Amino acid sequence: MEYDFEVKYRPGTQMRHVDAMSRNPPTNTSEEGKEILYLDKEDWILAGQLTDPKLQELHRILSQTAANNKEREVQSQYELKENRIYRKTKQGPRWVVPVGMRRQVVHASHDERGHFALEKTLNRIAANYWFPNMKHYVETYISCCIPCILRKHPSGKKEGYLYPIPKPTQPFQVLHMDHLGPFPKSTKGNLHVICAIDACTKFLFLKPVKSTKTLLVTHFLDELNVTYGRPKVIITDQGSSFTSKTFAEYCRNHFIRHNKVAVATPRANGQIERLNRSILAVLMTGVLEKDRWDQQIAKAQFAINNTVNSATGKTPSQMLLGYEPRYGTDIPLKEEVQQVTGRIEDLVKTRLETLERVAELQRRQKMIFDKKRKPARIYKAGDIVVIRKMEGSTGQSRKLIPPFSQPMIIKKVLGHDRYLVTDMPNSRRRGQRKAGYERCIAADRMRPWVKPGGVSEAEETDPEE
Ligand SMILES: [Zn+2]
Repeated sequence: MEYDFEVKYRPGTQMRHVDAMSRNPPTNTSEEGKEILYLDKEDWILAGQLTDPKLQELHRILSQTAANNKEREVQSQYELKENRIYRKTKQGPRWVVPVGMRRQVVHASHDERGHFALEKTLNRIAANYWFPNMKHYVETYISCCIPCILRKHPSGKKEGYLYPIPKPTQPFQVLHMDHLGPFPKSTKGNLHVICAIDACTKFLFLKPVKSTKTLLVTHFLDELNVTYGRPKVIITDQGSSFTSKTFAEYCRNHFIRHNKVAVATPRANGQIERLNRSILAVLMTGVLEKDRWDQQIAKAQFAINNTVNSATGKTPSQMLLGYEPRYGTDIPLKEEVQQVTGRIEDLVKTRLETLERVAELQRRQKMIFDKKRKPARIYKAGDIVVIRKMEGSTGQSRKLIPPFSQPMIIKKVLGHDRYLVTDMPNSRRRGQRKAGYERCIAADRMRPWVKPGGVSEAEETDPEE
């Protein structure tokens, strides 16, 4: 439904009641919004009221004696003053906003006034105006407001519960891998350290490397595999050496499941995070010559593997090897070999005890963690979402950039509140990227794009009374 006065004051291209998906950002429309509101308020509302068929009918009922109960009810709810229709409210009479003008009213009280949340926007509108289902309309409007979706920082409880990684019952079922560094370039040209930790025993392997190339990672894994066997699962972050095709191929060929931890959820990779800190500490204290830090790596590995782990109450060496390695010039295994059988029994028992303790610790951690969280919103493949950017991911001040990204599409549901997210097909961004963009994102970093349909024509019409 269109109004004559709108034709006068709005450019033709803006005439349609566009939905939120195709609506221009408010920066382009704010002038238009102001122009309308800065007209004599009385006149534009009056013009709207006089041209709206429903309000014409109200006007007729209000200007004569009620003929029946329905008309009496109308007269108890509305009043006519100087030819204008008002709704009677507890706070006083409020302008009745005609259907086609509601968007401008909400725009002026929301977009023009700093994009405040529902309650504040609603209070502002209700100070002057009334229309049926106003709260629902404003709620839908704000849920479709693109600046709000992209700009507003999430508040309240964070989404997503803690999903502990199930504890393996044997060593080398689950291996956490990561890169440490970069460190100062060593005399041998090393910059990084590949780090692998066995989830069951917490046994740690460290290897200095010149770069984070995938090939260096797979060589390192080959070395481990010939002694300890292939892991069933490798858990990594999303560093490029682990997201590469070469690494995927390696895992496939060796029947290893590769579990990538979602970006910016360090809690899922907490084991390795805590490790990073302790290794850095060991490396840095013992090294006087900074270009020889890589010569300390083996010592660091030994020291850590022989320090009691707070989660298991044992040293990783005890857990994996079943004995306490001796350090020095002695041959460590000589005395131990005779007691192998007994040690294996001890080892199994130790592992079981440890698993119980870790499981209990995880249950407690989960309870504490979940109390501060709410269930994550469920998305499905094909849903359009925006992704919260990681802090400090660009050099720009965070105040200058909106914290949420452009809309993206969910390609696959990964479980545990994680999703594979990619560019929308045919999006301009997809056209700009050289390679396809795909990321595993946790639900707490997402929020849905606008409500499907948005403030559609259906919402613009009054419900039948
Ligand atoms: Zn907004």
